Amino acid sequence: MPTWRNWAGNQKSHPSVIEMPTSESEVIAVVNRAVSSKQCVKVVGSGHSFTGIAVPDEVMIDLSKMNQIIAVDRVHGLVTVQAGIVLSDLNTHLEAQGLSMPNLGDVTYQTLAGAVSTSTHGTGLQRTGLAAQIDSFRLVTAAGQSLVCSKQQNEDIFHCGRVSLGALGVITEMTLRVVPAFNLRAVEQPMRIDYVLDNFSRLIDENDFFEFYWIPHTKWALTKANNVSTDPVDSPGRFRTWYNKMFLENYAFGLLCRIGRLFPRLIPKLATVLPSTGRVEYVNISHRIFSSKRLVKFYEMEYSIALDSLAPALREVMKMVDDRGFRISFPVEVRCTGSDDIPLSTSTGRRSAYVAVHMFKGSEYAEYFAHVEAILRKYEGRPHWGKIHNLDASDISSLYPEYQRFIEVRNRLDPEGVFTNDYLRRVLGC
Ligand SMILES: Cc1cc2nc3c(=O)[nH]c(=O)nc-3n(C[C@H](O)[C@H](O)[C@H](O)COP(=O)(O)OP(=O)(O)OC[C@H]3O[C@@H](n4cnc5c(N)ncnc54)[C@H](O)[C@@H]3O)c2cc1C
Repeated sequence: MPTWRNWAGNQKSHPSVIEMPTSESEVIAVVNRAVSSKQCVKVVGSGHSFTGIAVPDEVMIDLSKMNQIIAVDRVHGLVTVQAGIVLSDLNTHLEAQGLSMPNLGDVTYQTLAGAVSTSTHGTGLQRTGLAAQIDSFRLVTAAGQSLVCSKQQNEDIFHCGRVSLGALGVITEMTLRVVPAFNLRAVEQPMRIDYVLDNFSRLIDENDFFEFYWIPHTKWALTKANNVSTDPVDSPGRFRTWYNKMFLENYAFGLLCRIGRLFPRLIPKLATVLPSTGRVEYVNISHRIFSSKRLVKFYEMEYSIALDSLAPALREVMKMVDDRGFRISFPVEVRCTGSDDIPLSTSTGRRSAYVAVHMFKGSEYAEYFAHVEAILRKYEGRPHWGKIHNLDASDISSLYPEYQRFIEVRNRLDPEGVFTNDYLRRVLGC
């Protein structure tokens, strides 16, 4: 039997078969075959979720052969693609057309459908996560039907299915709203964490895309303020870019993490090196600034909370780390987005701040994550569907005003649970 593993290596399974369809009719045939042999189906993207959301128990569908651009409608700013396209390839195609996604997360290894299905987001109060950029999609259901879902057709399925957790069927195509390509001016600099927290609402209002990383065991944060710019690309040169993005953020940081894993008591000392990176400023095309290469493997948990809760919640996390004597080599990442109306989007109905904690792969993470989780739950935190958490349906249902609406659509489309797995049973309760 083949073995499937996710990127972080903390999820593994042995699907009975791996199917690689090349067209929607082949997807329908795979689903029909699985249903008649009473097997579950799981579509897997790039395996970049840390939770078991993508674990294929029986029939696994890999859509990497369905990764083409289908249509570009410049007049309406719409691009239609096959759902298996990887974000980095999509960005390359869009750049060649003078177009861009309005916002992105911090890596682009994921498939578009995989990223959208878990409510993947970047930062920027004027922008939303990726799912709210979707204009329509095609869905193959457990009944072997192909549905076009948009505001005009199958509206209920469209409304719920942009963040579907993979529970509604196989998305074969997506049409997304794009914008003319734009450059960003990036300013990266360390700031005192108290200053950042005291001025958080001003910093996220004044900058198009603001995020920061608090460095545990220090009073410092590394901040990134990216603003739309009409200036030409002015990156610091190939060597400087390699030095900043590859050497410092990956090789040197990876070495610090390895030393910290061997000698945890050195972590507070090693942490003081991180804020010494100084100030960097440069202009580049947006997707090259939004996303970076991540060679250092880790485990991650991320919760979204209401914007106003960020400062008190993070201060509690900082105090807890000190009080409990945890040794944490990975910075704590903070981002924000505007709200949207998608039932299972982590920013549904509220402007959100996101707090993400990480641990180097191979380190013990459960206790640290559980303590952070307990704090963020007090602030009505919603866990990222693709990142480690301990919640189940009874905890989650009250966090989403339209949770029940999603369950109804799901039960109508997939009453037998063809697309389910253990993780979905846990968070959907059925
Ligand atoms: C290094 C790293 C960086 C990350 N950065 C960010 C970030 O900046 N912001 C953020 O929000 N998240 C981030 N994540 C989380 C990541 O974006 C999500 O977990 C995302 O879902 C992964 O996409 P994937 O293609 O790997 O999908 P998978 O993890 O393989 O699948 C996720 C879900 O999507 C479903 N799915 C996939 N394709 C389809 C389809 N065609 N039809 C129906 N369902 C489908 C799967 O069944 C599964 O339920 C990061 C993860 C890693 C490892």
